[in-house]
Amino acid sequence: MMPKKTGKALTELRERTLNYLEQIARKSELQAFNSVESLGKLLERINELEKKPKEKHGKLFGLCFSIKDVFAVQGLPFQCSSKSLDGYIAPYSAKVVEQILKEDGIILGKTNCDEFACGSSGENSAFQTSQNPKFKGKTCGGSSSGTACSVSAELCDIGLGSDTGGSIRLPATFCNIQSFKPTHDIISRHGLSDLAMSLDTVAWMEKTVQYSETLLNLFCEQKEKLKEKKEITQIGIIREQMENLDTKVEQKIKKTIQTLERKGLEVIEHSMPLQKIAVPAYYACMYAEFSSSMQKFDGFKYGKQFSGSDIIEAVKVNRSVLGKEVKRRILLGTYLTQKEESQKFYKKALTARARLQKEYTQLFQKTPILISSVAPVPPFGLGEKIADPIQMYSADLLTVQANLIGSPAGSISLGEGIGLQVMGNQFEDKTVLGCLQKWENWVNAP
Ligand code: GLN
Repeated sequence: MMPKKTGKALTELRERTLNYLEQIARKSELQAFNSVESLGKLLERINELEKKPKEKHGKLFGLCFSIKDVFAVQGLPFQCSSKSLDGYIAPYSAKVVEQILKEDGIILGKTNCDEFACGSSGENSAFQTSQNPKFKGKTCGGSSSGTACSVSAELCDIGLGSDTGGSIRLPATFCNIQSFKPTHDIISRHGLSDLAMSLDTVAWMEKTVQYSETLLNLFCEQKEKLKEKKEITQIGIIREQMENLDTKVEQKIKKTIQTLERKGLEVIEHSMPLQKIAVPAYYACMYAEFSSSMQKFDGFKYGKQFSGSDIIEAVKVNRSVLGKEVKRRILLGTYLTQKEESQKFYKKALTARARLQKEYTQLFQKTPILISSVAPVPPFGLGEKIADPIQMYSADLLTVQANLIGSPAGSISLGEGIGLQVMGNQFEDKTVLGCLQKWENWVNAP
């Protein structure tokens, strides 16, 4: 129940936070949240913040966050949108969550996503399917579907998520908002349920590129490695990334390139035929790591306790509640990494990944920033691709590269569920962010 807004005038902080809470309830049909913080706890938090003298306000004072359900937030359900963790309450908070709280941020709740972050549409959640607030009947993109939905529908200020192969950039794009994924491994992943550790990155979304720099500075644990912001005069595009785009996407990207040229940037075209191996290499690496990381969810340590006549039976029962896509990934990952098969598939994928890394390093020496579309297609319909995994995986055609090479990458909405991806070399996070900030206004000027 919401407190009555009568009597003493509500402080701005109280008013904003309670307004978000009210909106979350009012827009529950969007199915953005898996769980919402209790009113009592939120009021306690507001009271605590209100008592702080201004000079002691943290860097995120009063900003309201939605947190993807793959992060631990102490006292809230930590379910990864999976039935196997139904009702599991996190006993501690992820490192980034602790940092948000320390800097006086407010956590509103946990957002829906594909089960264990496996997917590109949010439809693999075992609980609900987040609805695109901007395009009725379309998916939000995934896997951070509810997070994108919560930011886009103005149910919070900032959405915290994870990006393993595009899970921040794709849904941000489909929901007409902005996103940023930093260089791999510069932010602690403690308390983030892993999909594939060598690819997973803490990342976030916001309506305009406003708090990204603050978040990067706050979360980054290897500040000395970050390069200084560069003024950009040249940007690169990869010819092969302009092929196979939906016509509407292609037109919008081409128009955006013209806008950037008019603003004085030189656009240089490169060729990288190796692009075609990005998606297969990503999926093979991710399957392998995912199947290994899922071993800890055996039904004994976390979540629901399933009984069985013996250990095999108990594990079997626990695994039976996993969704189809999660099972597919565990099986394929186990197969790919078997001694007999690993040379044929996994080793090959690792070699392809290393080659891709080498070619990108060479490209970044020529042009420090590369741009492309975020997705080959605009938002697709709910139910349209879910039965065909290959179709679904193809939504990741242009985003997995940044994860395979560990680069920073962000997205700027161009409207209509289409986005411009901006990518730089490892540790060039400040330059990528600088481009996002500056270009956000340029590309959307009438
Ligand atoms: N869509 C990709 C996948 O399903 C990426 C997911 C992610 O970044 N979490 O693996």
